[in-house]
Amino acid sequence: MLRLHRPWLVTLVGCSTLLSRETPADQPGGAPPPSKTVQHVVLIALDGVRYQEIFTGVEAARARHAGVVVVDQTALMPHLWALARRGVALGAPTGEAFAMSGPNFVSLPGYAEMLSGRPAACHENNCPGPAAAKTLVDAVCETAQAEPCSAAVFSSWPEIERVATSEPGRALLSTGREGGNARALLREIPELAALHERGRRAAPAPGYGGYRPDNETARLALSYLEHDRPRFTFIGLGDTDELAHAGDYGGYLRALGEADEVIGKVSELAARWESMNEPTVVVVTTDHGRAESFRDHGGRFPESQRSWLVAAGTGVPARGAIRLERTRFMRDLAPTLAGLLGVAFAPPVEGELLDEILDTP
Ligand SMILES: [Zn+2]
Repeated sequence: MLRLHRPWLVTLVGCSTLLSRETPADQPGGAPPPSKTVQHVVLIALDGVRYQEIFTGVEAARARHAGVVVVDQTALMPHLWALARRGVALGAPTGEAFAMSGPNFVSLPGYAEMLSGRPAACHENNCPGPAAAKTLVDAVCETAQAEPCSAAVFSSWPEIERVATSEPGRALLSTGREGGNARALLREIPELAALHERGRRAAPAPGYGGYRPDNETARLALSYLEHDRPRFTFIGLGDTDELAHAGDYGGYLRALGEADEVIGKVSELAARWESMNEPTVVVVTTDHGRAESFRDHGGRFPESQRSWLVAAGTGVPARGAIRLERTRFMRDLAPTLAGLLGVAFAPPVEGELLDEILDTP
């Protein structure tokens, strides 16, 4: 099997506890090492997916109009709910929100917050790139000595490239059909190069311009995960938001079902890595909610602030869907994942650790 060179192999410390030899403790002035770290985090973002479908399944009135069958959330997204049952789901409608910081609930600020651990500095989808401040991708790269570092970003929507990293060229990026450095980096690996090329040549529907349809993004990302087992992988799927903007509820549900298949495949990989003593955490979330109208989202629709998150894996307790007692924010995610990975990352904001997904006493 062809693999990119990775010198960050870890030392086994306990039966399920791994300590990277490149934790910040090895760096002068680095933060104290966490006592437990996971080897892999895979973060999957489904663009513009409402908490309603995640927690209550298909909306009956809208389904009638669209001519689709009403099913509950576990039938709509069986793999996501398998994760939630052995992990944690945040954002259930009975409790306080898992929310975006805003003030504009649109995609690029959402992804910027997700990856930087702070409210986005830009409020529209025109954030300048590269990211002005360190992201979780950069934090992982700083603990790696290999080039490319052990972080990878795959997305259907090309704009994510602008907020993924403050240091382009270190992590592997494949954003949209043409974006990022993946084409050059994967040139030597025929199987991956072919998948990347296939995505480049795909028609952008249901998106437009440089958009790469989710099935191509997922095919490449899953194959790369098999080959390279990165420490941190971001997979951004976007067909759901494109179809929702078109008012196509049936298409949105289909895209959600296909995304669930991807979640299932990532879960299978994660289980395999766990069986190899490589502790792994899988997180699934979204960049924003949707307006009551379903088609829209943004600052004019405060209800689209509401997001959701599912996490499972080593170190994540099996609590299922929990009722939040206070609002938690997307900006809390990146510092939490950095802690799980044992990489130094302290965004200068009020972001807190999401202790709901941490197995803390
Ligand atoms: Zn949108």
